[in-house]
Amino acid sequence: MKALVKKKAEKGIWLEDVPEPEMGINDVKIRVLKTGICGTDLHIYDWDSWASATIPQGLVIGHEFVGEVVAFGSNVADVTVGQLVSGEGHVVCGRCRNCLAGRRHLCAHTLGVGVNRNGAFAEYIVLPMSNIWHHSPSVPHDVASIFDPFGNAVHTALAFPVLGEDVLVTGAGPIGIMAAAVAKHAGARHVVISDPNSYRRELAEKVGIKHTFNPRETTLKDVMAKLGMYEGFDVGLEMSGNPQAFRDMIGAMSHGGKISMLGIPSTEIAIDWNKVIFNQLTLRGIYGREMYETWYKMTVMLESGLDISGVITHRLNWKDFEDGFAAMSSGESGKVILDWND
Ligand code: NAD
Ligand code: ZN
Repeated sequence: MKALVKKKAEKGIWLEDVPEPEMGINDVKIRVLKTGICGTDLHIYDWDSWASATIPQGLVIGHEFVGEVVAFGSNVADVTVGQLVSGEGHVVCGRCRNCLAGRRHLCAHTLGVGVNRNGAFAEYIVLPMSNIWHHSPSVPHDVASIFDPFGNAVHTALAFPVLGEDVLVTGAGPIGIMAAAVAKHAGARHVVISDPNSYRRELAEKVGIKHTFNPRETTLKDVMAKLGMYEGFDVGLEMSGNPQAFRDMIGAMSHGGKISMLGIPSTEIAIDWNKVIFNQLTLRGIYGREMYETWYKMTVMLESGLDISGVITHRLNWKDFEDGFAAMSSGESGKVILDWND
């Protein structure tokens, strides 16, 4: 089958013919229909220090996808051929304390699809049945293909109650924008999103986030004054990994404010810990999605009117994957979708 493979230990992704993945008794085999390119895939493409330390050569990359079931192992129940499914991108051990307690997102033995094991940028992918999410027929294929990053957004945005709260999102990448939309949908009062990149701010506005600002030109104090806010934000969603964005956020939280952090910093960040202590802030790291409460919430929010489809800016054929990676690199994109039909 055709697949996008990290063939060489240098910048790039290679289109290769590889054997179809083999299926065990607990596995489901899926024909891939559409895939999303993630920032992680771009790190693998660019072959940065994280990628070169993590990615085995020859790996099929990619983890954001939707596809249809073509076969399943003898031990698999509740799956039928032709079902529209996505895969949870974290394969967990199922045996550790957290897994046994149902807190599978906290498994200490997590393996990443398209990172530690073969991924979804291929005609077929095989996953354990416990990693399969069966989509509601109401979910459009494009949106289904980005349930993985949408799930990151939902996990982060709903980590703390947002009903009636003022929410600050730092970073209007695709995940930050989706998280802002989720916070609004879940009943936040003001949702403000920052990004120095004007393309990204405009994209956020198109998706329905009214309050956007450039942190290099406007201070959070000014933003708060404009909105008639006095004490600070109740909930912060850190979606940039940028040290200054995180420092600005810590300085703009109300006493007792709660911050969930998804953005991955590339270096250590020094902050004024006195603000965390005296303002009694809560900081919470977020990784992946809750299995499968986040997936359930995604589905029902879409069914109750949340529309995140505007975050998709590029729809390309898989053969044009180089254009897709270039769009991701440019910073002038939201989600980039590759269509694997034909
Ligand atoms: P992205 O890189 O597309 O978006 C990050 C945005 O932050 C960019 O638009 C950038 O311009 C903006 N930014 C830079 N400096 C800023 C500043 N000072 N203030 C405000 N914004 C600033 O990333 P994404 O795909 O939307 O993902 C968001 C983050 O989440 C990334 O850091 C990514 O690595 C991380 N991530 C984490 C997980 C997890 O499980 N923890 C999963 C997926 C992604
Ligand atoms: Zn485990």
